[in-house]
Amino acid sequence: MSAFGRPAAEPYEVFAVKYAHHERNASANFLGGDPHDGPMPLDFYVWLVRGNGRLVVVDLGFNAATAKARQRELIRNPVDGLRLLEVDAATVPDVVLTHLHYDHVGNCELFPKANFHLQDKEMAYATGRHMAQACFGQAYGVEDVVGLVRAAYKGRVAFHDGDEEIGPGLSLHHIGGHTMGLQAVRVWTKRGWVVLASDAAHLYANMEEQRPFPIVYHVGEMIEGWRRLQQLADSPRHIIPGHDPLVLRRYPPPAPQLEGIAARLDVEPRE
Ligand SMILES: [Zn+2]
Repeated sequence: MSAFGRPAAEPYEVFAVKYAHHERNASANFLGGDPHDGPMPLDFYVWLVRGNGRLVVVDLGFNAATAKARQRELIRNPVDGLRLLEVDAATVPDVVLTHLHYDHVGNCELFPKANFHLQDKEMAYATGRHMAQACFGQAYGVEDVVGLVRAAYKGRVAFHDGDEEIGPGLSLHHIGGHTMGLQAVRVWTKRGWVVLASDAAHLYANMEEQRPFPIVYHVGEMIEGWRRLQQLADSPRHIIPGHDPLVLRRYPPPAPQLEGIAARLDVEPRE
Protein backbone atom coordinates (compact mmCIF):
# COMPACT_ATOMS: atom_id res chain seq x y z
CA MET A 1 0.00 0.00 0.00
CA SER A 2 1.35 3.37 -0.95
CA ALA A 3 1.74 6.28 1.42
CA PHE A 4 -1.50 7.70 0.04
CA GLY A 5 -3.55 4.77 1.38
CA ARG A 6 -6.79 3.41 0.11
CA PRO A 7 -9.37 5.82 -1.33
CA ALA A 8 -13.11 5.75 -0.78
CA ALA A 9 -13.68 4.39 -4.25
CA GLU A 10 -14.42 1.13 -5.99
CA PRO A 11 -11.50 -0.16 -8.05
CA TYR A 12 -11.48 0.98 -11.65
CA GLU A 13 -10.85 -1.13 -14.73
CA VAL A 14 -7.93 0.17 -16.80
CA PHE A 15 -7.14 -0.75 -20.40
CA ALA A 16 -4.46 -0.02 -22.97
CA VAL A 17 -5.52 -0.07 -26.63
CA LYS A 18 -2.81 -0.24 -29.28
CA TYR A 19 -3.47 1.80 -32.40
CA ALA A 20 -0.13 2.25 -34.17
CA HIS A 21 3.43 1.01 -34.48
CA HIS A 22 6.80 2.39 -35.53
CA GLU A 23 9.88 0.36 -36.44
CA ARG A 24 13.04 2.08 -35.30
CA ASN A 25 16.42 1.39 -33.78
CA ALA A 26 17.33 1.80 -30.13
CA SER A 27 19.46 4.86 -30.87
CA ALA A 28 16.22 6.78 -31.54
CA ASN A 29 14.95 5.99 -28.03
CA PHE A 30 17.78 7.22 -25.83
CA LEU A 31 19.46 10.57 -25.39
CA GLY A 32 23.01 10.08 -26.65
CA GLY A 33 22.03 7.05 -28.75
CA ASP A 34 22.67 3.40 -28.01
CA PRO A 35 25.97 1.50 -28.39
CA HIS A 36 24.29 -1.69 -29.68
CA ASP A 37 21.54 -0.03 -31.67
CA GLY A 38 19.38 -3.03 -32.53
CA PRO A 39 15.70 -2.82 -33.48
CA MET A 40 13.58 -1.27 -30.71
CA PRO A 41 10.12 -0.43 -32.04
CA LEU A 42 7.51 1.76 -30.40
CA ASP A 43 3.83 0.95 -30.03
CA PHE A 44 1.22 3.69 -29.72
CA TYR A 45 -1.66 3.45 -27.26
CA VAL A 46 -4.72 5.15 -25.91
CA TRP A 47 -6.00 4.17 -22.46
CA LEU A 48 -9.42 3.72 -20.91
CA VAL A 49 -10.41 4.05 -17.24
CA ARG A 50 -13.85 2.73 -16.29
CA GLY A 51 -15.60 2.49 -12.90
CA ASN A 52 -17.38 4.44 -10.16
CA GLY A 53 -19.86 5.57 -12.79
CA ARG A 54 -17.06 7.22 -14.76
CA LEU A 55 -15.69 6.68 -18.24
CA VAL A 56 -12.41 8.45 -18.95
CA VAL A 57 -10.34 8.10 -22.10
CA VAL A 58 -6.67 8.99 -21.72
CA ASP A 59 -5.15 10.42 -24.92
CA LEU A 60 -6.55 10.22 -28.45
CA GLY A 61 -3.76 9.03 -30.72
CA PHE A 62 -3.53 10.25 -34.30
CA ASN A 63 -5.51 9.77 -37.51
CA ALA A 64 -4.67 8.33 -40.96
CA ALA A 65 -3.55 11.67 -42.44
CA THR A 66 -1.06 12.24 -39.62
CA ALA A 67 0.18 8.66 -39.83
CA LYS A 68 0.93 9.18 -43.52
CA ALA A 69 2.58 12.56 -43.00
CA ARG A 70 4.78 11.27 -40.18
CA GLN A 71 5.36 7.80 -41.64
CA ARG A 72 3.89 5.89 -38.75
CA GLU A 73 1.96 2.66 -39.21
CA LEU A 74 -1.66 3.24 -38.16
CA ILE A 75 -3.22 -0.12 -37.28
CA ARG A 76 -6.68 1.16 -36.40
CA ASN A 77 -8.09 4.55 -35.52
CA PRO A 78 -8.15 4.80 -31.71
CA VAL A 79 -11.92 5.30 -31.90
CA ASP A 80 -12.26 1.88 -33.54
CA GLY A 81 -9.98 0.39 -30.89
CA LEU A 82 -12.13 1.84 -28.12
CA ARG A 83 -15.24 0.48 -29.81
CA LEU A 84 -13.82 -3.02 -29.27
CA LEU A 85 -14.18 -2.22 -25.55
CA GLU A 86 -17.76 -1.06 -26.12
CA VAL A 87 -16.89 2.62 -25.86
CA ASP A 88 -18.71 5.04 -28.15
CA ALA A 89 -16.41 8.03 -28.70
CA ALA A 90 -19.41 10.24 -29.50
CA THR A 91 -20.64 9.98 -25.90
CA VAL A 92 -17.38 9.98 -23.90
CA PRO A 93 -17.65 12.75 -21.27
CA ASP A 94 -14.02 13.05 -20.14
CA VAL A 95 -10.72 12.86 -22.03
CA VAL A 96 -7.41 13.35 -20.26
CA LEU A 97 -4.72 14.70 -22.56
CA THR A 98 -1.38 13.79 -21.01
CA HIS A 99 0.25 16.30 -23.37
CA LEU A 100 -0.38 17.76 -26.83
CA HIS A 101 2.13 15.89 -29.00
CA TYR A 102 0.67 14.72 -32.31
CA ASP A 103 0.39 11.09 -31.19
CA HIS A 104 -1.73 11.95 -28.15
CA VAL A 105 -4.20 14.57 -29.31
CA GLY A 106 -5.43 13.80 -32.83
CA ASN A 107 -9.08 12.80 -33.22
CA CYS A 108 -10.50 15.41 -30.78
CA GLU A 109 -13.33 16.07 -33.24
CA LEU A 110 -14.49 12.47 -32.83
CA PHE A 111 -15.23 13.18 -29.14
CA PRO A 112 -17.89 15.92 -29.47
CA LYS A 113 -19.21 15.60 -25.90
CA ALA A 114 -15.86 15.45 -24.12
CA ASN A 115 -14.17 17.83 -21.77
CA PHE A 116 -10.43 17.76 -22.28
CA HIS A 117 -8.31 17.68 -19.12
CA LEU A 118 -4.99 19.45 -19.63
CA GLN A 119 -2.25 21.05 -17.54
CA ASP A 120 -1.96 24.85 -17.71
CA LYS A 121 1.72 24.49 -18.49
CA GLU A 122 1.10 22.27 -21.51
CA MET A 123 -1.13 24.84 -23.20
CA ALA A 124 1.40 27.57 -22.38
CA TYR A 125 4.25 25.47 -23.80
CA ALA A 126 2.41 24.43 -26.99
CA THR A 127 1.44 28.03 -27.78
CA GLY A 128 4.60 29.74 -26.61
CA ARG A 129 8.13 30.71 -27.49
CA HIS A 130 9.68 27.23 -27.53
CA MET A 131 7.57 26.12 -30.48
CA ALA A 132 9.79 28.18 -32.78
CA GLN A 133 12.56 25.63 -32.12
CA ALA A 134 12.21 22.40 -34.12
CA CYS A 135 13.60 20.28 -31.29
CA PHE A 136 10.62 21.29 -29.12
CA GLY A 137 7.97 21.98 -31.75
CA GLN A 138 8.39 19.11 -34.19
CA ALA A 139 6.30 16.64 -32.18
CA TYR A 140 3.34 19.04 -32.10
CA GLY A 141 0.82 19.41 -34.92
CA VAL A 142 -0.17 23.05 -35.11
CA GLU A 143 -3.72 22.21 -36.20
CA ASP A 144 -4.10 19.91 -33.17
CA VAL A 145 -2.97 22.72 -30.88
CA VAL A 146 -5.25 25.27 -32.56
CA GLY A 147 -8.11 22.81 -32.11
CA LEU A 148 -7.43 22.76 -28.37
CA VAL A 149 -7.33 26.54 -28.28
CA ARG A 150 -10.75 26.58 -29.96
CA ALA A 151 -12.01 24.02 -27.44
CA ALA A 152 -10.74 26.22 -24.60
CA TYR A 153 -12.75 29.18 -25.94
CA LYS A 154 -15.83 26.95 -25.95
CA GLY A 155 -15.27 26.04 -22.30
CA ARG A 156 -14.38 22.45 -23.17
CA VAL A 157 -10.88 22.37 -21.66
CA ALA A 158 -10.61 21.61 -17.94
CA PHE A 159 -7.31 23.18 -16.94
CA HIS A 160 -5.27 21.71 -14.10
CA ASP A 161 -2.24 23.06 -12.30
CA GLY A 162 -0.11 20.36 -10.69
CA ASP A 163 -1.85 17.50 -8.88
CA GLU A 164 -5.63 17.25 -8.98
CA GLU A 165 -8.27 14.62 -8.28
CA ILE A 166 -10.81 14.29 -11.09
CA GLY A 167 -12.79 11.50 -9.45
CA PRO A 168 -12.64 9.28 -6.39
CA GLY A 169 -9.40 7.31 -6.65
CA LEU A 170 -8.50 9.02 -9.95
CA SER A 171 -6.02 11.88 -10.18
CA LEU A 172 -3.75 13.82 -12.51
CA HIS A 173 -0.14 14.65 -11.67
CA HIS A 174 2.06 17.17 -13.39
CA ILE A 175 5.39 15.54 -14.28
CA GLY A 176 6.92 17.78 -16.96
CA GLY A 177 10.24 16.67 -18.45
CA HIS A 178 9.27 15.29 -21.87
CA THR A 179 7.15 18.41 -22.36
CA MET A 180 6.63 21.35 -20.03
CA GLY A 181 3.12 20.28 -19.08
CA LEU A 182 3.13 16.50 -19.30
CA GLN A 183 0.83 14.84 -16.77
CA ALA A 184 0.45 11.26 -15.57
CA VAL A 185 -2.77 9.59 -14.41
CA ARG A 186 -3.07 7.68 -11.14
CA VAL A 187 -5.88 5.14 -10.83
CA TRP A 188 -7.12 3.03 -7.95
CA THR A 189 -7.49 -0.62 -9.03
CA LYS A 190 -7.98 -4.00 -7.41
CA ARG A 191 -4.18 -4.47 -7.48
CA GLY A 192 -3.56 -1.06 -5.94
CA TRP A 193 -2.45 2.26 -7.40
CA VAL A 194 -1.64 2.03 -11.11
CA VAL A 195 0.01 4.98 -12.84
CA LEU A 196 -0.40 5.65 -16.55
CA ALA A 197 2.94 7.34 -17.13
CA SER A 198 2.31 8.23 -20.77
CA ASP A 199 5.53 9.75 -22.08
CA ALA A 200 7.04 10.37 -18.65
CA ALA A 201 8.53 6.99 -19.63
CA HIS A 202 8.23 5.91 -23.27
CA LEU A 203 9.73 2.49 -22.54
CA TYR A 204 10.39 0.47 -19.41
CA ALA A 205 14.08 0.79 -20.33
CA ASN A 206 14.07 4.60 -20.17
CA MET A 207 12.98 4.43 -16.54
CA GLU A 208 14.74 1.23 -15.43
CA GLU A 209 18.09 2.12 -16.99
CA GLN A 210 17.72 5.84 -16.23
CA ARG A 211 18.31 6.76 -19.88
CA PRO A 212 16.13 9.67 -21.04
CA PHE A 213 14.14 9.61 -24.26
CA PRO A 214 15.67 12.14 -26.69
CA ILE A 215 12.57 14.30 -27.22
CA VAL A 216 12.78 16.25 -24.01
CA TYR A 217 12.06 19.74 -22.73
CA HIS A 218 13.90 19.37 -19.40
CA VAL A 219 16.16 16.40 -18.67
CA GLY A 220 16.28 17.04 -14.93
CA GLU A 221 12.48 17.08 -14.68
CA MET A 222 12.28 13.90 -16.74
CA ILE A 223 14.64 12.08 -14.37
CA GLU A 224 12.89 13.50 -11.31
CA GLY A 225 9.63 12.39 -12.94
CA TRP A 226 10.62 8.70 -12.80
CA ARG A 227 11.02 9.08 -9.02
CA ARG A 228 7.63 10.77 -8.82
CA LEU A 229 5.99 7.93 -10.77
CA GLN A 230 7.44 5.46 -8.27
CA GLN A 231 6.03 7.49 -5.39
CA LEU A 232 2.58 7.50 -6.98
CA ALA A 233 2.46 3.81 -7.93
CA ASP A 234 2.30 0.86 -5.55
CA SER A 235 5.39 -0.70 -7.19
CA PRO A 236 7.43 -0.35 -10.38
CA ARG A 237 5.12 -3.04 -11.85
CA HIS A 238 2.24 -0.61 -11.41
CA ILE A 239 3.78 1.98 -13.77
CA ILE A 240 2.63 1.74 -17.39
CA PRO A 241 5.01 3.31 -19.94
CA GLY A 242 3.60 5.24 -22.89
CA HIS A 243 5.01 3.40 -25.90
CA ASP A 244 6.46 0.04 -24.86
CA PRO A 245 5.44 -3.04 -26.92
CA LEU A 246 6.08 -5.07 -23.75
CA VAL A 247 2.82 -3.74 -22.27
CA LEU A 248 0.71 -6.01 -24.49
CA ARG A 249 3.03 -8.94 -23.74
CA ARG A 250 2.98 -8.42 -19.99
CA TYR A 251 -0.73 -7.76 -19.50
CA PRO A 252 -3.57 -10.05 -20.53
CA PRO A 253 -6.18 -9.08 -23.11
CA PRO A 254 -9.69 -8.25 -21.84
CA ALA A 255 -10.99 -11.06 -24.08
CA PRO A 256 -9.06 -13.73 -26.03
CA GLN A 257 -9.88 -12.19 -29.41
CA LEU A 258 -8.25 -8.91 -28.30
CA GLU A 259 -4.78 -10.45 -27.83
CA GLY A 260 -2.26 -8.06 -29.39
CA ILE A 261 -4.84 -5.27 -29.54
CA ALA A 262 -5.77 -4.41 -25.96
CA ALA A 263 -4.67 -5.24 -22.43
CA ARG A 264 -6.12 -5.12 -18.91
CA LEU A 265 -3.81 -3.04 -16.72
CA ASP A 266 -5.77 -3.33 -13.48
CA VAL A 267 -4.81 -7.01 -13.14
CA GLU A 268 -1.44 -8.51 -12.31
CA PRO A 269 0.98 -8.83 -15.24
CA ARG A 270 1.27 -12.36 -16.64
CA GLU A 271 5.04 -12.18 -17.06
ZN1 LIG B 1 3.99 9.82 -27.37
